[in-house]
Amino acid sequence: MMQRVQFDLGKPDLDKLLSVADGDLLYRGVKRRENDKTSTTIMHGRVPYITYNIFAPYADEMIHGFSTRLGGVSREHLESLNLSFSRGDDPENVTENFRRFSEAVGFDHTRAVFSDQVHDTALHRVTEEDCGKGIIRESDIRGIDGLMTDVPGIPIMTFFADCVPVFFYDPEHKAIALSHSGWRGTVGDIAGKTIRRMREEFDSAPERIVTAIGPSICMDCYEVSEDVASLFMEKYKDTGDMGTVLMDKGNGKYQLNLHAAVRRNLLAAGVKEEHIAMPDICTCCNPRFLFSHRASKGMRGNLAAVMALK
Ligand SMILES: [Zn+2]
Repeated sequence: MMQRVQFDLGKPDLDKLLSVADGDLLYRGVKRRENDKTSTTIMHGRVPYITYNIFAPYADEMIHGFSTRLGGVSREHLESLNLSFSRGDDPENVTENFRRFSEAVGFDHTRAVFSDQVHDTALHRVTEEDCGKGIIRESDIRGIDGLMTDVPGIPIMTFFADCVPVFFYDPEHKAIALSHSGWRGTVGDIAGKTIRRMREEFDSAPERIVTAIGPSICMDCYEVSEDVASLFMEKYKDTGDMGTVLMDKGNGKYQLNLHAAVRRNLLAAGVKEEHIAMPDICTCCNPRFLFSHRASKGMRGNLAAVMALK
């Protein structure tokens, strides 16, 4: 029987984490959207990770998860579960963090495949020969912001600290995809491109694909200037969603809602509204729970999204 444990997450505190038993949930101190609870945070062996309730029916078919900054071994601004080899961390720490995260979620991190993420919209279909690229050997996967596969046992991973993770699952053809949709990727419609590519590669029907928009920066936290706002105005002006995507503050600044924009991209690509889980946790509202580029002024580690077919 799962017990709900709540405690103050004002400061990452491993002693408190250790007092939480496996399978218990972790909430208090995490600022969430109250009326739209789409995710669950699960504690497993000192390492909490976030899952999306929309994928619960497919737990026998695939694993998925999103890391937090808690439960790892890195120090200072990378404290503690930094999942990036390129942000100045000791590689041994990062490897240990990957080991802990993979053990918690239940995948083999030595077989993982990483995207390198250049804020573009190019996608890569992962096969057996890609296994381990980025983690145990040099990767030749370059200029890629989205990964997909239909091969069981290959964990695909993308990395974040405010940008928007998008998870995709086609239960009919047993195919998964992950994309990295920052503002450039959102204007470039990487989410829609992922749906179209899944159709080409796996014969996926858009109306069958189940998606989740993962933990990332919320509209309240995301102020942008005219140059970025104008690109969104141009792209979304005819959708009827302009009011939810962008709020004009009248001083040349705007609040941008990437979540609404990604949702619009998914709908336009044929995904059903009930197959889109919206994020209920903002990285920037919770800088002690998650890494946020904006909240930390760039002094941060990386979070990871992972999916793998069983
Ligand atoms: Zn926020």
